[in-house]
Amino acid sequence: MAWLRRPCAVALASAGVTTTDCLFCKIVAGDVPAAKVYETESTLAFRDIGPKAAVHVLVIPKAHHSDVAALAKADPALAGEVLAAAADVAAAEGLLEHGFRVIFNTGPYGGQEVFHVHAHVLGGEPLGPMISK
Ligand code: AMP
Repeated sequence: MAWLRRPCAVALASAGVTTTDCLFCKIVAGDVPAAKVYETESTLAFRDIGPKAAVHVLVIPKAHHSDVAALAKADPALAGEVLAAAADVAAAEGLLEHGFRVIFNTGPYGGQEVFHVHAHVLGGEPLGPMISK
C-alpha cells in the first residue's frame, strides 16, 4: 500500500480544492467509502480503519491541506473548525467524562502516513503514556 504513504502530488491549499490522488480527498468526494460519524460544511469525521483505541475517529477539513502546520498557516479559521469538530466528536462519542486525546501526526518524524491533515480523536479507555520509548 505504498500509495497510501505517498504525499499528494499536487497539494493545493486553496479552500475547496481537492487532489486527485489523495485518499482523504477521495473520502470527501464519496469515491472511497468511510464510516462517517460527523459532518459540517467544512469538516468531516469518520472512524479510523485500523483503530488504536476503543474510540478512534479521524477529523479532517474537506479542503486539502497537507498537514496541521500548512493548515494553520493557510487558513487558521478552518484549523479552529477542525478543533471544534474534534470536540463535537468527543462529546458525541461520550468521551468528555473520562477524557480523550487529540493527535496530529505531522511529517515523517511525526509518523504521518496520509498527507491530508487529520486529527486523531482517541478515547473510550485509558490510553496510557503519550509516547513510549
Ligand atoms: P497518520 O499516520 O497520522 O497519517 O494516520 C493515518 C490514519 O489513516 C491511520 O490511522 C490509518 O489507519 C487511517 N486510514 C487509512 N486509510 C483509511 C481509510 N480508508 N478509512 C479510514 N481510516 C484510514
